[in-house]
Amino acid sequence: MADHTGKIKSRPDQGGVDTNSIKMTTLISFVVFALFLVAVLWGLSNFFMNSYYERVRSQDVIRTADALETQFRQDLNSFDTFAVQAAGSNGIYIRMDTAEGSLIYDGTRTVKDTGDFEADISDAVTDLIVSGQNSITRTKRDPSGALSRLVYAANINAYGHNNVLSIVAPLYPDEATVRILRKMLIYISFIVLVVSFLLAFALSVRLSSPIENLTRSAKELSKGNYDVKFNGAGFTETKELAKALNMASYEMEKTDFYQREIIANVSHDLKTPLTMIRSYAEKIIDISGDNPEKRNADLNIIISETERLNTLVTDMLSVSNLQSNNVEMHMETFDLVEAAESVYESFRVLAESEGFDMHFHPCRPSYVVGDRTRLMQVMTNFVSNAVKYAGDSKYVDIKLTKGSKKVAFHCIDHGVGIPSDEIGHVWDKYYRTSANHERGIEGTGLGLAIAKGLLNLHNAKYGVDSEEGKGSDFWFEIETVKKPPVKKSGGEDKKA
Ligand code: ADP
Repeated sequence: MADHTGKIKSRPDQGGVDTNSIKMTTLISFVVFALFLVAVLWGLSNFFMNSYYERVRSQDVIRTADALETQFRQDLNSFDTFAVQAAGSNGIYIRMDTAEGSLIYDGTRTVKDTGDFEADISDAVTDLIVSGQNSITRTKRDPSGALSRLVYAANINAYGHNNVLSIVAPLYPDEATVRILRKMLIYISFIVLVVSFLLAFALSVRLSSPIENLTRSAKELSKGNYDVKFNGAGFTETKELAKALNMASYEMEKTDFYQREIIANVSHDLKTPLTMIRSYAEKIIDISGDNPEKRNADLNIIISETERLNTLVTDMLSVSNLQSNNVEMHMETFDLVEAAESVYESFRVLAESEGFDMHFHPCRPSYVVGDRTRLMQVMTNFVSNAVKYAGDSKYVDIKLTKGSKKVAFHCIDHGVGIPSDEIGHVWDKYYRTSANHERGIEGTGLGLAIAKGLLNLHNAKYGVDSEEGKGSDFWFEIETVKKPPVKKSGGEDKKA
């Protein structure tokens, strides 16, 4: 932890702008997007507006020509009014050649160079005659492209004559329109840039602030301040992260607390046998060395204390190995009921000598795939705890129940039980219920943590049902498999 804190502290503060930060990345992305948008707008207006305008204009011209023709055929008297309005509203130049002469309507007031229109029309009329079609549309482009025109010519057979309707539509938007459009584009570009910059700024602040909050709290936590609360308000994801970090902080605090506890407990647990070993060794040298009977009794105490030490150290190693996933499993198919029975047998003699009433309730053989030794270690732990915490009621039941696909092992005692607020912690490493400390029952708080690790490796379900003062039922449940075929001595498999 100190090391960790040191590392964070010694990290150099990076000066200047961090382009990898959420703030800068959002800001840059938005601004780049806005610039792209503006570029597209300008590109569209410059490169595509003309062709788009040309297409729309030619559709307009054809529609107007159709309307003019209909008007001409249906009501010659009001044709004049209609044509004046059509020319004016569409900004086009209309000429109708009839037997009586030519009617001209000029709606292209703002266009200066109308001089060429007559030439355009006579070219188009020639084209119309040569093509033999009813109508033609031509685009006249001048080299600069600034004064292009759309020229339309059509035959209208009416009133016993062949009349010709010609329309010239200037294709260039007039200067005022272009100027307004450009101005508008400049305003739009400016607004897009400013709005996107403000939006990016607001968003980046909103995005980064919960993360900055979390980072601040994490730094506090790394200094060992477990009171710190992670707050990820703002987004669902940061809220989830804050929740996970609060859980992690709670777990760290708990582990830290238990570790401190265990250092106290373990040093006590280590010190007691060591002191005993030392004093009995001294006793042998000083007093009982010459008396074989007394010496052997003292030596036996030394041996049993050494065993206690050995168990403690082995448990610590097992937890550490389970934590680092460094456990070698020897999987085999075996009968859990038979394994449970041998655990029961190993306790029976001891239990009887200490006045325990221990009962074994087997179910029919139930085969499981697992590490037999390790599952026996789990069962042994449950049973030895039942004996240890049985209190005055020296009555322990070992029960196996078989379901359709599972078999469950139960170790039931009628002893001290576990307070409901502590029941969730008994599987935590180094945890010992408060009552133990009062009663002075020896233990490391590692047995159930090891059992939990081993049961997890077997994908087994496990748990404890307990009531304070009434007793506990520690159980696990594991999937069953078919009974394996028994190998004949000749090497041939046979179903047993
Ligand atoms: P240890 O027994 O060495 O303290 P364990 O990990 O086996 O460690 O058990 C953790 C704690 O759970 C025990 O200290 C005890 O408080 C509680 N516990 C375990 N088994 C029982 C039981 N059968 N009855 C009551 N409390 C139990």
